[in-house]
Amino acid sequence: MSRFFLTTTLPYVNAQPHMGHALEFIQADFLARWLKFRYGADNVRFNVGTDEHGQKIRQKAHEAWLSVSDFVSQNVATFVDFCSSFGIGYDSFYRTSLLSHYPVAQTLRNEVKKNWLLGKKTYGGNYCLWCELFKKDKDLVNGECPDHPWQKLVQMEEENYFFLMSHLRDRLLAWFDAHPDFLYPKSKREELRNYLLDLEDLSISRRRETLNRGVPVPDDDDHVMYVWFDALSNYIGACGYPDPSFVDWRSQSIQFCGPDNLRFQWGIWQAMLEAIGAPHTYKLLVHGTVFGPDGNKMSKTLGNVISPFEMKNRYGVDAVRLYVLAGIPTYGNASFVPADMVALHNAWLCDTLGNLINRVLVLGKKYGTDLGDGTALTNQEWARAWADGEKVIEDAMGEYDLYRACHGIHTLWLWANKVFDNSKPRDRILSKEERTAILRDSYTVIVRLCQLYEPVIPAGMARCFGIVRGKEPQIPFVKIEGK
Ligand SMILES: [Zn+2]
Repeated sequence: MSRFFLTTTLPYVNAQPHMGHALEFIQADFLARWLKFRYGADNVRFNVGTDEHGQKIRQKAHEAWLSVSDFVSQNVATFVDFCSSFGIGYDSFYRTSLLSHYPVAQTLRNEVKKNWLLGKKTYGGNYCLWCELFKKDKDLVNGECPDHPWQKLVQMEEENYFFLMSHLRDRLLAWFDAHPDFLYPKSKREELRNYLLDLEDLSISRRRETLNRGVPVPDDDDHVMYVWFDALSNYIGACGYPDPSFVDWRSQSIQFCGPDNLRFQWGIWQAMLEAIGAPHTYKLLVHGTVFGPDGNKMSKTLGNVISPFEMKNRYGVDAVRLYVLAGIPTYGNASFVPADMVALHNAWLCDTLGNLINRVLVLGKKYGTDLGDGTALTNQEWARAWADGEKVIEDAMGEYDLYRACHGIHTLWLWANKVFDNSKPRDRILSKEERTAILRDSYTVIVRLCQLYEPVIPAGMARCFGIVRGKEPQIPFVKIEGK
């Protein structure tokens, strides 16, 4: 049986949802809906959630003059709202500060200890609060963390628990080399492999004085778990861990993440799975970075930040979802250009999709044709062309190329418009039977096309299906304007 577990990376709730989150959540939602349609909703579980512990959150809460728990609750609420605004149909919203999560992180840690992969060491040095990692001198640029030069490095020294993951290096490398299809895009393999070659032991606890919020270390009251075991264990907690049945969901587990997360989250998380003998992640899909319309990294200083909420309020959720999936390559970096989003929406949804639906329904009504239930396709030439078009989409989805799949769906819509025109359904020389056959087949084609589009823009297609099933001609998508 095919069972799939999909998850986004849990956003760290020190800030509001941004366009990078929109990209990742919408991509994951598209794939989850696609798989549910193919394999049944019960065989797909889609997890999102929030990572709610850590020093950065405390710092941000203080800056906002809020208690940590009020600050966290506020930001979690915006992520929940974000999911409902963008039609993210998750099956679980995992919060790492809930008490139900504690036994997940603690059991994982105990299992790692049982397997002799936990140790206590004194560690000191330069620490980057944003990476949550100690930085070696060789990693610094002008004495700062290269990724977070605006954040002063902190001098830290304390006795911590360490995950002895350097012991797993050879096993992880062997597994990685044996699974060439683990990582998308494949161009990232080299980066991840180099990281695995350098795998070092990892500090996974803090003394309680330093960090007062977090999952308690089971057999040591002076320590609290720090970041890794706490946050990453959600990916098995959402599958039911520590109950042994969690493995039922792990054979085809698909993880979405951003380019910044690749090394830290993925070297480390695969090491944890290796340490407890659990199945590794099946596919890791690493999306690109969304830049501002000017092609620069979004930043408040440059004033080129595009908020997903603002885009949705101005242009509607269908336009944003369609653009994120079909206007931005699944794995490349790209600029978010509102004018391109408007053009895509109007060309694809109004001129192509809406136009055909309206024309088929108008003629069906005009000639009083029984359009059928949208299942039979009698024209063999159309059936062959349809199968070819569908194969293009299937192949793209097999490569987890959501962008190419969307373009494949649009190509089928263009084809449907063309064959409908070429069949000249208004032609007077057609017999009633011939016209009925054309209109019924066209109706079947639009029903199938709507099904293909449902994972892309679920809200718009729910409306569209209402029109198609009701067979009363109506314009499903109205053109939008903007720049
Ligand atoms: Zn850093």
